Amino acid sequence: MSAQQPQAIYLEDYRPPAWLVTHTELNFELEEEQTLVRARLNIKANPEVSGKPEPLQLHGDEGMELLRLSIDNQVLEPQDYRREAGMLTINNVPDQFVLECVTRLLPHENTALEGLYKSDGMFCTQCEAEGFRRITFFPDRPDVMSIFRTTLTADKSQYPVLLSNGNPVASGDAEEGRHWVTWEDPWPKPAYLFALVAGDLALLEDSFTTCSGREVALRIYAEHKDLDKLEYAMTSLKNAMRWDEEVYGREYDLDIFMIVAVDFFNMGAMENKGLNIFNTSCVLAHPKTTTDGGFQRVEGVVAHEYFHNWSGNRVTCRDWFQLSLKEGFTVFRDAEFSADMNSRTVKRIEDVSLLRTAQFAEDAGPMAHPVRPESFIEISNFYTLTVYEKGAEVVRMLHSLLGPELFRKGSDLYFERHDGQAVTTDDFVAAMEAVSGRDLSQFRRWYSQAGTPRLNVTDRWDAGAGEYRLTVKQSCPPSPGQEHKQPYHLPLAYGLLDEAGRELRSGVLEVREEEETFVFSGLESRPVPSLLRAFSAPVKLEYDYSYEQLLMLLRHDTDGFNRWDAGQRVCVRLMQNLIRDWQNEQTLQLPATLVEAWKQLLQNETLDPAMLAQCLRLPSEALLAELADEVDVVAIHEVREFLRTSLAQALEQQWLAAYQRCDTREESYSPDAASIGRRSLKNLALGYLMATGAEPWLELARQQFEQSDNMTDQQAALALVAHSRHRESAAELLQQFYLQWQHESLVMNQWLAVQASDPTEGALERVQALSEHPVFDARNPNKLRSLVGAFCGQNPMHFHSEDGSGYAWLADWILRLDKQNPQVAARLLTPLTRWKRYDKVRSALMQKHLQRMMDTDDLSADVYEVVSKSLV
Ligand SMILES: [Zn+2]
Repeated sequence: MSAQQPQAIYLEDYRPPAWLVTHTELNFELEEEQTLVRARLNIKANPEVSGKPEPLQLHGDEGMELLRLSIDNQVLEPQDYRREAGMLTINNVPDQFVLECVTRLLPHENTALEGLYKSDGMFCTQCEAEGFRRITFFPDRPDVMSIFRTTLTADKSQYPVLLSNGNPVASGDAEEGRHWVTWEDPWPKPAYLFALVAGDLALLEDSFTTCSGREVALRIYAEHKDLDKLEYAMTSLKNAMRWDEEVYGREYDLDIFMIVAVDFFNMGAMENKGLNIFNTSCVLAHPKTTTDGGFQRVEGVVAHEYFHNWSGNRVTCRDWFQLSLKEGFTVFRDAEFSADMNSRTVKRIEDVSLLRTAQFAEDAGPMAHPVRPESFIEISNFYTLTVYEKGAEVVRMLHSLLGPELFRKGSDLYFERHDGQAVTTDDFVAAMEAVSGRDLSQFRRWYSQAGTPRLNVTDRWDAGAGEYRLTVKQSCPPSPGQEHKQPYHLPLAYGLLDEAGRELRSGVLEVREEEETFVFSGLESRPVPSLLRAFSAPVKLEYDYSYEQLLMLLRHDTDGFNRWDAGQRVCVRLMQNLIRDWQNEQTLQLPATLVEAWKQLLQNETLDPAMLAQCLRLPSEALLAELADEVDVVAIHEVREFLRTSLAQALEQQWLAAYQRCDTREESYSPDAASIGRRSLKNLALGYLMATGAEPWLELARQQFEQSDNMTDQQAALALVAHSRHRESAAELLQQFYLQWQHESLVMNQWLAVQASDPTEGALERVQALSEHPVFDARNPNKLRSLVGAFCGQNPMHFHSEDGSGYAWLADWILRLDKQNPQVAARLLTPLTRWKRYDKVRSALMQKHLQRMMDTDDLSADVYEVVSKSLV
């Protein structure tokens, strides 16, 4: 037990700030050994807070050195203020004053990567959520918005590029080969949106003319060696700017928009006003070094951060409990953008797959929380799938309930009402209510109740009356601190099909009651329902489909998402049966119905390859684990492997035909949706061919590895061979890949991840050895995710090894990283938090390692929160 336990803070304790900072002037003297920060804050009492004057309280990290503090030019002595528990308190201040403060920082020693730090020789910052308090003393809360003016001074030859938020307004040379630049941001913003960058950077430049005819300079910066990898991000940025004007009426508001790529970054990217800072993995893209998934990630993340300029920056969060106000809305916006740029159905399938495996698991685990949490110890732990992805689903439901036109009116009103303000999720819903005249009070439960609701649907057919009745029952399991849930208000999109697959009806039902019945009359025969089309609500849907009905939907449903989902339901049900057979030591049998259905799909050359690839991908081990009452790691793995191998052998000719049909070696690479679809079907087919174990297909994979001109095909072939029984070829290709790409950091992340997720014998020894390899760097979050994260998240057989060695390895890492980078440590911990879902032996071992962490002195608040909540 640590000496002092970190304390939780509660939404219900929110109070408006007693003090406001109207203007903030910052001066950074950047040097190798230290950085001096001179801050000048114009502070005044908040006119909206009445009562007797409160002391001035400023956040400031304990590690930050305070050199000088003055109020209206009067220097304060240590007895004039108090510093404790990360807070600086000054009593008896005037109603309005100027506070000046000088702090000394050591960016080169900052391994937490919050505040000001160094990444590969450049200075950069990360201030969301509470990193600004590591730079200077400030009311570091999103509802204190200030106008910032920032001057950076640094050595001119080492740091020729000096960037901050807003527009550059002045620059010049200083003594001793140094130079300076001043930036001014005209828009008031909270401190978490502050950013600076200083370095020797290459630049890709372009421009964009906004809808009102203003010219905006677009600049993307990266290390010189990566200059050839910035074009796709630039194209994506321009597409996103145009899309936001057309779809949301949002125009950009500064003369310049900048993106900087940095290699050491805890998150994906950060929407600092006018100066987005990106993890290299979310901005660099080149056909030779980036997979299709990587290209789509760049497009999505560039758009996401750009969209924040309105949904996040111009209108921001009142407090961190409202994080989903900006994240849920912006994820919905970027998902719609990606859907418009690529295939809508495929994008939806990918998003829902993530939700069903990872977010549903979060909802069912010890860290379950509502989209708007009620309390937290460390806000960094709440940058979760629930806040982001489920939050986006909640916005999507509003979009379905109101329809696109009213939704747009609602978002216009929201931006108009709250421009320049820090507001709440309630304010967002209120704007939707105002434009629609609807009462959304029941709908608001989506923000306050945790857990994944279940919809149980039954039906009755009255042939005499031609009447079909759908009865919908909803429930939601208990989650920490919430025993009983109230019914939700949700859109249930549906279609009714006849036996031949013709669509008879379609629409959206609004479900509000614990149980209610919807009646459809005037039908000639009993319909087959297609329920929850396009996944219209983030729920688990139960309806007792027959195999015949599911196969009919797989063939005929007009809703692409539900066609895919019908196929998944067939597979999940068959696999669950096989898991039972395996547990009862019965021989596993490949169901003929599945072979027949897949054969038909594969022979249908009119189907879109991207959709076909989605339909022919077996449900993941993670999904099957999420659906199980008690996770049987070995049974799930063995059954999936059995099914994969059997389907591979039974349909070998069809896989080969699909591979050849989609062979794109003659074309030059393009990351458009159609080409991506062909490559995904081709590589899926290659995977099945490899699964047959036949020698010729190993040769085919090796050929693809050597001859392909793009990373998608090369990496797919590498992973297939590396994970196969052909150990000699695996070692050869891994070595060849290493020699080819050892100087490309992002490609080496893939090289690490491929090996970490290799399910063959000896996995733990391999990752242990890799953690000593020169390409691995434990200070770099991308490397940690690629090695430790991939092993614990994507190699269930070895992470969950019955001797507990995988758990011990992860726990050792967490304890080591907790001292260095608590945010990343807490994130990597997730797999252990699920301990209650496993068999006795495994759960006892996982619990033992959680307890070992709990018994460690001086745990960070980040890790302490996750471990303590998991052990409850
Ligand atoms: Zn975001």
